Amino acid sequence: MILLLQSDASAPQRSRLQAALSALGLSADAVRLGERHAMVLTSPTDLPADSLARLEGVERVLPLEQRTSLVSETFREGGTTVSMGTARFGGGWMGLIAGPCTVESEEALEQIARLVKEAGACALRGGVFKVRTSPHSYQGGGLDALQRMHRVSRRVGLPFLTEFTDPRQVSVAGELVDGVQIGARHMQNFPLLTEVAALGKPIMLKRHMGAGVDEWLSAAEYILKAGNEQVVLCERGVRSPDRHVRFLLDVSVVPYLKSRIGLPVLVDPSHAAGDWRLVPALAKAAVAAGADGLLIEAHPAPESTRCDASQALPPADLRALMTYVRELLKLDGRRLSDGALAPSADDQPSSPRAASA
Ligand code: PEP
Ligand code: MN
Repeated sequence: MILLLQSDASAPQRSRLQAALSALGLSADAVRLGERHAMVLTSPTDLPADSLARLEGVERVLPLEQRTSLVSETFREGGTTVSMGTARFGGGWMGLIAGPCTVESEEALEQIARLVKEAGACALRGGVFKVRTSPHSYQGGGLDALQRMHRVSRRVGLPFLTEFTDPRQVSVAGELVDGVQIGARHMQNFPLLTEVAALGKPIMLKRHMGAGVDEWLSAAEYILKAGNEQVVLCERGVRSPDRHVRFLLDVSVVPYLKSRIGLPVLVDPSHAAGDWRLVPALAKAAVAAGADGLLIEAHPAPESTRCDASQALPPADLRALMTYVRELLKLDGRRLSDGALAPSADDQPSSPRAASA
């Protein structure tokens, strides 16, 4: 059971509520939901929701049977804009996250970072702890590679994120990153989700290739329940009977989610297609469908990379794609988030939802 508190519930009111709950023999975890506070009961209770709703400071009791109450609440609250440094996703901002599949030498990474920034990226992404289907494949450059990416990110002026694959990486590497990716294969690694959430940094949660939307949102609920609502969902393709592409990009999930929840939705056409020649068309479809961001793998010399060479988009194609995307965004009344330029308070685009209301 989740108690959503009144928007003006003060700290003393929240402590009184905790005390009232313990007097009833109940324990609860305090959770933040944007500007709001909520309490998630951690002990079972037979008390009717109506009695709990009458406690001081409580606005509503969220239904017990719903597995994704906190995620659904983000819609009611008017949506979440996730910020990572100067990069923004949601609330009328569309952001491009781009970079190599895996972090290589510092020079190679810096060259890619400058190229993707020039094309319009607001954040850099590269893998250092890689999840590979084969144990014989390259597993990533680890902490050394992460430090290289941190230096490049600061020199170039782009916030960056990378995938964590093990809860132990949070204490070793959490301080360095601006955001964390949870990869498709770890979507339901709940101890990892909880540990990463506690870092309090933005999290990009990729959909598992076999997961239904409800399972994906339940995974996001774990992060929100751990007190972190800076969550961006990332569609990256699901399994289909066909093998003409690596995965079937579920573009329909973008408008579907945007009509039900307030978390930003990104699309990764690179891992879906597995072929760079298909990436621009899929990316355009995703933005036209309302995606709040794109995750694209790009590389100026794919033949030299150790991972996912076939899907690495050449920088010239990325630039051409982004010229088109800027036009699409204009039609939608949305803006491209620019990692290089801190958007000022009076430079807010209108939220498409607010504009059409
Ligand atoms: C990746 O983003 O580098 C990756 C391996 O993607 P996914 O987890 O979607 O397979
Ligand atoms: Mn990759």
